Amino acid sequence: MLNIYNTLSRKKETFKPINPGKVGMYVCGPTVYDHCHLGHGRGYVSMDVIRKYLEYSGYEVRYIMNYTDVGHLVNDAEVGEDKIERKAKTEKIDPIAIADYYIQSCKEDFAALNIKPATFNPRPTKYVDQMIKFTQGLIEKGFAYESNGSVYFSVEKFPEYGKLSGRKTEELLAGARVEIDPNKRSPLDFALWIKADTDHILQWKSPWSVGYPGWHIECSVMSCDLLGENTFDIHGGGNENAFPHNENEIAQSEAYTGQKMANYWMLWNMVNVDGVKASKSLGNALSIKDALEKYAAAVIRLWIISSHYRSVMNYTEESLDQAKTNLQKINDFVLNMEALSTAGTPPSDFDIEPYREKFEAAMDDDLNTPLALSGLYELITETNKLLVESSLGAPDAKKILAFWKRINAVFGLELIGQVEIPQEILELVKKREEARQNKDFPTSDQLRDEIEKLGYIIEDTKDNNFIIKPAK
Ligand SMILES: [Zn+2]
Repeated sequence: MLNIYNTLSRKKETFKPINPGKVGMYVCGPTVYDHCHLGHGRGYVSMDVIRKYLEYSGYEVRYIMNYTDVGHLVNDAEVGEDKIERKAKTEKIDPIAIADYYIQSCKEDFAALNIKPATFNPRPTKYVDQMIKFTQGLIEKGFAYESNGSVYFSVEKFPEYGKLSGRKTEELLAGARVEIDPNKRSPLDFALWIKADTDHILQWKSPWSVGYPGWHIECSVMSCDLLGENTFDIHGGGNENAFPHNENEIAQSEAYTGQKMANYWMLWNMVNVDGVKASKSLGNALSIKDALEKYAAAVIRLWIISSHYRSVMNYTEESLDQAKTNLQKINDFVLNMEALSTAGTPPSDFDIEPYREKFEAAMDDDLNTPLALSGLYELITETNKLLVESSLGAPDAKKILAFWKRINAVFGLELIGQVEIPQEILELVKKREEARQNKDFPTSDQLRDEIEKLGYIIEDTKDNNFIIKPAK
């Protein structure tokens, strides 16, 4: 049974879908004004693993991730420029073109990291009419007010405000800086619609002013459109956005629909670089593209899933090198099992069930990927031992490979050099193995040469095992 840590209740809860066999999941997406950084990579790989494990468990997942292409200001307060507009002005490119360019870049990075495409990737610029309608609805219901052409959500009208991030409105008020926006009734109120300055590039007509939507409203509107106006199952995102972004989403959605927005809130943690919080101003924010220049995508993915999604990650060369070593270990294991699966040897009493149970127990415990991986490493150690003892047969290898394929549908590791070895080569490998077992080294060497001539090399490993790979 799947248990997940719900940020909303601050405890682990058994996952119960609203509709049997189906899961609706909304994940806050990146603001597309720059290349995705490693923190995004970590977050969206984590969400991908959650989605894939739900699919492994038999659920059909409707997975929504937006691209924020308007309304996200550089400052979380309600002042300042829109991040995309600022980039558009400095580069003298249309904001929509900026967004298109970085959406494409993000898609490339996600594909490299083997993140399954979302069911839908909505963009707020395509939802302006619906955002206006939603905002209008909030005014009619008494949760929002117009002031000087902008519209604000009145936080005091929503008593549950702060329930996700655990912040209390009194404390927030005490800590609020001197309010710079005279249009707001309370410093905690946040913008649903912002009246545009004349030089603002993206602007739309609304009943209140020519302007543009606030950042938070998009997620409420797009999740309602694509997952329905009822409660949906899982809302994901980065924990740095729990306040104010997610908190404001909850206030808007629940005020508008009168229902709980999402049952489970799953928030990933951040990535430090060499122990320091990665940020643009410090110049240590690493893009996914930078990391991909140094490491294979599967190494980065393995590095990410080697930590629990709720723990802080630290990017260091050593930790990436460790992931590289581990990936090689997994790679060798799979190649060995593939070679053995065609060997024609009889089965042993090897039982894969305990490994499946371990994998599921780890994943069912709030997606504990490091523990699930350690179960895989135990399996590798055990099979290596059995290989040395020659007490593993072809049917065992087939069983192990089938298990590997099932769990790797969740881990999503694209192994390096994993290629289909032609049957002809496998036959020669088998003969060579027989010769080796019989200590007939001249024949074994001759067969090795023959295999090499056909473009494949055999590498003997320390544990009396071997790897076959194309000689490239
Ligand atoms: Zn959001």
